[in-house]
Amino acid sequence: MTHAMLDSEERIVITRPRFGRFFLPGPTEVRAEILEAQLRPMIGHRGKPMEQLMAEMQPALRGVFRTGRPVYIASSSATGLMEAAVRNGARRRVLALVNGAFSERFYQIAVACGLEADALRVPLGEAHAPDRVADALRGRAYDAVTVVHSETATGVLNPIADLARVVHDAGDVVLLVDSVTGVAGAPVESDGWGLDFVLTGSQKALALPPGLAFGVAQDAMLGRAREARGRGIYFDLVEFDKYLAKNQTPNTPALSLLYALQVQLQHIRAEGIEARWARHAAMAERCWQWADDMTQRGIPLGVLAPPGFRSPTVTCLTLPPRRTGPAVTAALASRGWTIGAGYGELKDATIRIGHMGDHTVAELDALLAQLAEVLA
Ligand SMILES: *Cc1c(COP(=O)(O)O)cnc(C)c1O
Repeated sequence: MTHAMLDSEERIVITRPRFGRFFLPGPTEVRAEILEAQLRPMIGHRGKPMEQLMAEMQPALRGVFRTGRPVYIASSSATGLMEAAVRNGARRRVLALVNGAFSERFYQIAVACGLEADALRVPLGEAHAPDRVADALRGRAYDAVTVVHSETATGVLNPIADLARVVHDAGDVVLLVDSVTGVAGAPVESDGWGLDFVLTGSQKALALPPGLAFGVAQDAMLGRAREARGRGIYFDLVEFDKYLAKNQTPNTPALSLLYALQVQLQHIRAEGIEARWARHAAMAERCWQWADDMTQRGIPLGVLAPPGFRSPTVTCLTLPPRRTGPAVTAALASRGWTIGAGYGELKDATIRIGHMGDHTVAELDALLAQLAEVLA
C-alpha cells in the first residue's frame, strides 16, 4: 500500500510499504504504481483526450470479459450495476438464486425495485444445481434470473455456464450475473456462455481502488432495457450504450479511477487473461491444500465450499472449536496482515481469504505461514 504524507516543507511524500499483506476479499490490495496513476491532472470529459482514453481501454476490457460487445463503465460501486441489471433487464417476475449474502442482496434489490421476486435458496456453502433451477423455471413464468457467480460470503462458485443453458432453454428469460469476484480472477466467457448481463466492480479481482463498476449487455438485455419504463436515469443501459459508441460516459466519470484502470489494463494485457485465471486457480489450490495440511496436523480447518464448486478468488474456511473469525483476524492484524472475518451469519464460524487481484502464490504462502502461527 502507498501512504501519502506531507514533509516539513509541505511537499507530498509517498512511501510504499511492501505489497502482499492485504488479503481482504474486497477491496483488494492495489499496487503503488496503480495508485499513483491517479495523480494525473483532470481532463474534460467531453473532449478528445477522454475519448482516446476510453477507446484505448475497450479492447483490453473486452478481453477481460471475453466479449465482442462494448464494456460499460459506471462510476459507482458494483451494487449500482446490480440495480441496473434488475431495472433494465427484468419485466415483472424475477427468480433470484440465493446461496449467500451477496445473492440475497440481488434478491432484495429486485424486491426494492418493485418487482415480483421469488428466492430459490440453497444452504450456505452450496452451489445452485441447474436441474433444480430448470424445475423452478418450469413452475412459474419468470422473465429474469439473478445469480452471483462467485459468492464472496461463502467462497462458492456457481456453475454459470450450465445455469445459463437452463435459463435460455426456458425461453424469453434473461440471466443477470453478478461476477464481482469472478471477472478477472475466474474464467468468464460473457459471449460464449450467453450471459445476458454480467457485471463486476473495480475493487476485487481487477485490483483497483473501489468506485468503478463494469458491465456487458447482450442484445436481448439491451432490448429489454429499451422497453423498460422504470430504468431510471443514472443506470440507464441504453444511455451507457449510446455514449460508449462515441467513447464517452453519460455523466462525469470518476476520472482518477479511469487513469488507474488504464495502467492496470496494460498489466492485465501483458499477463494475459488466461494466465491471470491460472494464477488465481493456483492460489486457491494452495489455500485448500494448506487447510488440509493444517487439519492433518490437528488444527481442523474446513473449506466451506465443496470440491468442484470452489471460487478461485476467495476461500471461506471453517475454524477449529473455540476460534472465532473476528478473534483470528484481529490476531493477524496485530502482525500487520489482513484477511476477512466471516460475512453475515458466518461471521464467527469462518474466516475468508481473498487470494485475488495482483497477489501471487509466494505472497499467499507468507500469509498462510502467519495464519498457521496464529492458529497454533
Ligand atoms: C463486493 C461484492 C459486491 C458489492 O460490491 P460493492 O462494490 O460494495 O457494491 C456484490 N457482489 C459480490 C459477489 C461482491 O463480492
